[in-house]
Amino acid sequence: MTMDMTFLGTGSAYPSPHRGASALVLRAEGECWLFDCGEGTQTQLMRSQLRAGRITKVFISHLHGDHVFGLPGLLCTVSLNTNPSSVQDQPCVEIYGPRGLRHFLRVTLGLTGSQLLFPYAVHELEPTLDQSPPEGQLSHEMTTESGPLHPQEQPGRSICLDASSDCYLLFEDKKFVVRAFRLFHRVPSFGFSVQEQDRPGRLKTELLKELGLKPGPLYGRLKAGQSVTLDNGRVVLPSEVLEDPIPGRKVCILGDCSSVLGEGPLKACNRADILVHEATLGDEHHEKAVEHGHSTPKMAAAVAQACCARRLVLYHFSQRYKPCALQKEGDDDDVVELQRQAEDALDGSGIEVTLAEDFFTLPIPLRRPQ
Ligand SMILES: [Zn+2]
Ligand SMILES: [Zn+2]
Repeated sequence: MTMDMTFLGTGSAYPSPHRGASALVLRAEGECWLFDCGEGTQTQLMRSQLRAGRITKVFISHLHGDHVFGLPGLLCTVSLNTNPSSVQDQPCVEIYGPRGLRHFLRVTLGLTGSQLLFPYAVHELEPTLDQSPPEGQLSHEMTTESGPLHPQEQPGRSICLDASSDCYLLFEDKKFVVRAFRLFHRVPSFGFSVQEQDRPGRLKTELLKELGLKPGPLYGRLKAGQSVTLDNGRVVLPSEVLEDPIPGRKVCILGDCSSVLGEGPLKACNRADILVHEATLGDEHHEKAVEHGHSTPKMAAAVAQACCARRLVLYHFSQRYKPCALQKEGDDDDVVELQRQAEDALDGSGIEVTLAEDFFTLPIPLRRPQ
């Protein structure tokens, strides 16, 4: 039931010796998911406690190089480290991202003659025309794949905006519902909402003993929501013997943006435990940030407040902001000032602000039953 998030790169535009390009890993329930994969992500992974080979899903927010240049190389390195005798058991790596990502991977893997020891599939999100200025939209020729699939590529889905929720439903299973939503940036950009399903509450074991039920398979049935009939004919309902359900956690990760678009982001991020939002430049550079399709801490704070998030995590800092540990007295561009600006904007809201740094791991504790 542990869940945590590790930032592998918190810099914008390009990887530097001080800050990697955008990438973070969310671990939950034995799953290991990568969000964005800027150049150098694989070396950042090697320097972390995480194992690249454990990644089963990749989510790419948008097609700027600082979010995607690392993906072909990472896939190749994972493949090199895959045991050839276990090829039959390798799960398909599911990759989600904007239209054009499938073509990008097929061409880069194809031109470099890269073979993988595992299958992969790219599920593309169809952007809408209002997600970027016209010059940020890719032409049909740029995004249309021609020719055969890469030998290890499996057909992927094309996912369109659901008009009623204003979101993209990526998948839903017993553990999670994952959605994407629209952002405005220089090219179409997306955010992702990972909602953990609620869990059944704990069994009231004292009560079960009083009813004459001993620990065993019947406990499992009750926990799974099924009623149980005792030898004396008494029917025990799960609602009688289970404590309140444990609410699922919600983690939202937004790609580069100068604003969210439509109702979808606010719905998908409503009451998020963690909202990860970019803050490329300080509030004093508001105009420049917006001109480049980016946000300042105050803008990130406004989104966190509109969503009633519990914690705002800032990342994707301009490379002008050195990590706290390297900051010297009298340096301009203090990254802690970005945190202060967000905190000022959120004063009195109860929303906490965290600065992400490379290799910082944030635990995401369970919610208490409501
Ligand atoms: Zn970026
Ligand atoms: Zn960008």
